Amino acid sequence: MSLEQPTQSAMKPGASTLTVNGLIDTEHKADAAVLPDCPVCARNSWSRRSHGTRLRECAGCRTLLNDRSTSRQEEERRYCDWNMPRLADEDRIGESQWEWVTRTIKRTETWDHASILDIGCGNGAFLRAVRGGCEHSVGDSRRVMGIELNCRAVERCLAADLKVLQGSILEVGVPDGPWDLITLWDVLDHLERPDEALKMVATQLGPGGTLIIRGRNAQLHGMLKQMRGRFHKIVIALGLPDLSVVHRWGLMPNGYEILMRRAGLGCIGLQPALPTPGDRYSMLGPKLAARFLKGMTYSVAVLLHLASFKRFLPFSVCSSSRIQM
Ligand SMILES: [Zn+2]
Repeated sequence: MSLEQPTQSAMKPGASTLTVNGLIDTEHKADAAVLPDCPVCARNSWSRRSHGTRLRECAGCRTLLNDRSTSRQEEERRYCDWNMPRLADEDRIGESQWEWVTRTIKRTETWDHASILDIGCGNGAFLRAVRGGCEHSVGDSRRVMGIELNCRAVERCLAADLKVLQGSILEVGVPDGPWDLITLWDVLDHLERPDEALKMVATQLGPGGTLIIRGRNAQLHGMLKQMRGRFHKIVIALGLPDLSVVHRWGLMPNGYEILMRRAGLGCIGLQPALPTPGDRYSMLGPKLAARFLKGMTYSVAVLLHLASFKRFLPFSVCSSSRIQM
């Protein structure tokens, strides 16, 4: 599968023409010719980059494209070549994710014998939590595995005796199932073709298997990123940290749902994502303050979610769906 896009080096910078109605914009048209199709609605109709950012909005469904790479390979090099240091509170994050899974996903059997695949497993915190959560009972009879692009992270996983495959799932594929649980923690919006990836994932889920996706809500992150770009000087002068995150794609809550439905998944549920404990990138100041800030933000978000009859979703979305039986 080739996802190569032509480079943008052939474009003439600044070449734009505006008619009286503002409808003809040759730079915009030249850009659109080399930009990928929207993974959610398949259109190729992108806005100009919003002021001070590389974000473009899909005219069809409002998905955001972070126009920073011209091919899958270029996008993936961002992660391959990175040293990926162990994050602060990494183990606590993995444990809270596993705790959330076992509390939220109802199974007729226990998790002890479940087969679990974590796509984009990083340094293996979630896999370690899965393995650790079972040591006191039946041992490691589950089939627990990860896949990760970053070579250094894979080395750390292997050193911790975790079974992890190195590579992009768009290249090496999804390890053969059937899997009872597949997780993508903050991974889907990094992938060059999230639509293709989900179709591949769905084929490896076992009967009644569950897929969990945690991702950013672009409705809020995109808006914050665009405001930051527009008022950049003021933001810098005030020393405000950048808390907004848009990776390759900025997916709206219904974008996650559409992608999962199109991959053949059913029983789809969207909910406020579990907050990551601590301050992953040490941006929020002293530890106690960070914990308080995150706790407050999450509580307010959940209240708004419930008060709006689940229409409002906060900064991060957790989607779960099952393969239909
Ligand atoms: Zn779209």
